[in-house]
Amino acid sequence: MDGSKLKVFVDFDGTISTEDVGDAIFREFGNPEAVDKIIDDLNKDIISSKQCWDLLCKCVEKINENDLILFIDKMNIDPTFKSFVNFCEENKIDLFVLSDGFDYYIKRILDREGLSYLKYFANKLKIEREKLIPEYPYFNPDCPVSANPKQFHIINNSSDDDYTIYIGDGNSDKEAAQYCDYIFAKNSLLKFCERERISYWPFNNFDDVTKRIKELLSKKRLKKRHQAQIKRKHAYEAE
Ligand SMILES: [Mg+2]
Repeated sequence: MDGSKLKVFVDFDGTISTEDVGDAIFREFGNPEAVDKIIDDLNKDIISSKQCWDLLCKCVEKINENDLILFIDKMNIDPTFKSFVNFCEENKIDLFVLSDGFDYYIKRILDREGLSYLKYFANKLKIEREKLIPEYPYFNPDCPVSANPKQFHIINNSSDDDYTIYIGDGNSDKEAAQYCDYIFAKNSLLKFCERERISYWPFNNFDDVTKRIKELLSKKRLKKRHQAQIKRKHAYEAE
């Protein structure tokens, strides 16, 4: 199998970063009780992720940008991610970072790690007069549960000839992962796949992913996931 036919889509928070940076920022700078309640409501599907981010940004009364930057700079990424990126480059595998979090910290962390050239799609965050202002350039009213519905980026950046791979850990990956032929899952995405009987490969870190993709590449051809093809077909027809 030729690596250039593989398209890999990877979540940021909790997948590339070791902890959920978005949540951590609001827990640090917002009222912790209010923040916990908002995130809990999101996890219970009581509010959408766009509503969640709007509420979280509002609950930070005042933020000092230098403090925010110092906090972000303490956030780590999975130590095996960089060698996975190199592996993808060596094999001409296209890699996209898809996040329902914010460009503000993703850009800063990727820059710090020497990975600023990676393609990513995320919500936007600005600081104006010590207030956090979110923007959702990819919001789509057809999919109001996500602020940045990841499946549209998957559809826009792959073709019928490609074999698509999703790597994720959580809530914002549930819908998107179903559009891909192969899913690497951990934490709540793994539980979701179990519950919904969606086939997946469990992983702890990117070394596990690299090892498995090497095995996939050694095959002559890869069987696409039928349910993913149906989802994609419906999405193409809707456009
Ligand atoms: Mg995540």
